[in-house]
Amino acid sequence: MTTAIAAPKCLVCDTEFEVQADWEKGEITECTACGQEHEVVEKNAAVVRLDLAPEVEEDWGE
Ligand SMILES: [Zn+2]
Repeated sequence: MTTAIAAPKCLVCDTEFEVQADWEKGEITECTACGQEHEVVEKNAAVVRLDLAPEVEEDWGE
């Protein structure tokens, strides 16, 4: 009962991501090769799609 999900690839360097079971839509994950952050934009039993994560400035204030 192995459902093979096609591994999403880094949009920058084409390195395959290892699909994590706990990924959810909106999850931010980092390419292990180039460090580019990607956002999980779609995840279901059949497909995982990533997009470049929007650059978010971490401004938590004081
Ligand atoms: Zn990469």
